[in-house]
Amino acid sequence: MKKRIFLFSMLITLIGIFLFGIISTSVFYKNSINQQKEALSVYMLQYDDTVYEKNNAGAIQFSSKLNGIRVTFIDLDGTVLGDSERIETEENHLNREEVVLALKQQEGFAIRNSNSLKENYLYYCVLKEDVLVRLSLPTSSLWSIYVTTLPTTIGFILLDIVLCSVFTIVGVDSILKPIENLTKKSLLTADVTTEYKELQPLVQMIKDNNKYIDEKINAIRHDKKIETLVLDNMDHGIVILNEQFHIILINQAAATLLHVLKDEEQISFLLEDKELYETLKKKENALFYRQLSNKEYAIRITYTEHSYVLLLTDVTEIKRMEKSKNDFIANVTHEMNTPLTSIRGFAELIASGSLDERQVKHACEVILRQTKRLSLLIKNIINYSSLEADDLEEYDVNVSSVVEGVCHSLSSTTHDKNVTIHMNIQPNLFIRSRNEKILEIATNLISNAIKYNRQDGNVEVCLSENDNQIILSVSDTGIGIAPENFQKIFDRFFTVDRSHNENSSGFGLGLAIVKKICKQEGFIIDLQSEVQKGSTFTIYMKKQ
Ligand code: ADP
Repeated sequence: MKKRIFLFSMLITLIGIFLFGIISTSVFYKNSINQQKEALSVYMLQYDDTVYEKNNAGAIQFSSKLNGIRVTFIDLDGTVLGDSERIETEENHLNREEVVLALKQQEGFAIRNSNSLKENYLYYCVLKEDVLVRLSLPTSSLWSIYVTTLPTTIGFILLDIVLCSVFTIVGVDSILKPIENLTKKSLLTADVTTEYKELQPLVQMIKDNNKYIDEKINAIRHDKKIETLVLDNMDHGIVILNEQFHIILINQAAATLLHVLKDEEQISFLLEDKELYETLKKKENALFYRQLSNKEYAIRITYTEHSYVLLLTDVTEIKRMEKSKNDFIANVTHEMNTPLTSIRGFAELIASGSLDERQVKHACEVILRQTKRLSLLIKNIINYSSLEADDLEEYDVNVSSVVEGVCHSLSSTTHDKNVTIHMNIQPNLFIRSRNEKILEIATNLISNAIKYNRQDGNVEVCLSENDNQIILSVSDTGIGIAPENFQKIFDRFFTVDRSHNENSSGFGLGLAIVKKICKQEGFIIDLQSEVQKGSTFTIYMKKQ
């Protein structure tokens, strides 16, 4: 900036000096010529035609009267008659500018370089009676005056350089100081002010800019905050690495999973896992499953824009569900296969005609029993599956009458073992649910209590309420359940007796259905049991 101002001021002043030089020299030149013209006019007045002969001697005589200025007498035909400088010339002077003018208008001035004296002369020629009298004074040319003034001009230019430098250093500094101060101020504070009127628009511009920048920064901060908030509150882990496997971005979930500290540059887990590391090096997109923090994670690697994006997703539940689905299918197949094999076997025996009438009857009874078992299995599966898509409206169910009804209807199955059902049911207890759900819970628990009881055993069914819940408990004096099976008995198709023969009446779906309904309804199940002493299943139904 200073350099520019210096050069600019130099240029302006140099042009000024140059123009001033030319103009002043020209004026000076013009003035001096005018003075010389006047002097020549005065000299010419002293000419007396009668005194001076028209030859060199006459010219010298007149010249000495005029302090030695050159005098020339020219004949009207242009022949030089006499010259005070005694210059003999044959040259005709008729075409000389001053001579032409004098012949035309009595007198004439001309400035030119003398052919004979090789010097610049101012000529003044006057037409007298029969002769042309010419006076000449040596004079400088305009150019020679320029040349003469050159040292002075150079002196001025040098002075100009000094002045311009001083102006640039002192003057420019003082002009720029307020702007510099303003810039410094604008960096320190948003409230910029100035006492200079000329700088007000600049101040306003800085203020507007500061405001705009502040708004932009706030918007970016806000976006960044949201971005961090979203990233850090995601269940999925996200990692972005550069090509040197250095972390560009990692969210909280990924940092916790991969045990990465904030200041760490690399993820040791990725470098130690050979398969993963090789894939990263190949810059391929890939999907891996790894065990991290006791959970199964899918690690999806995507290579894009010279960086790797790793997405870590918890697939434990999906995997568990996949396994559960496969187990379910395997169990259903297995459960169906047993009665079907039996039916097929007995049917083949009947078809072969090798059985006598008693054996045929026995075979038919087995086929019938196994068919019933198959139907029961299918009904249980349908029952279980229908709970998946349960979106039916709920209403107030009279739990007391449902439980009582179940006890009555199941009492017909107690004869085999001579089991006695004792009821302690508080009447008219209502819960918001669906009839079939309460019926399912009560039926499964009470039928199990009868089924897994001992000979001449007892079943006690209690229904009561406290402030916020209805409590159903079913106790039996049966075979009991080993503690290691407390959880398992609620799994689908789990039975303590794994034989699944035709005499074993259970499929292991009853308690799974109970558990599923309780989960849906927000009920809590409690189990107390001692092997060979009996079990108590308690359901806590929270009132809405
Ligand atoms: P199922 O009775 O059809 O086999 P459940 O899901 O109702 O299926 O029960 C699962 C398993 O839990 C049963 O096979 C049985 O071993 C055990 N069990 C359930 N109720 C009792 C009980 N009251 N006493 C002892 N064992 C029981």
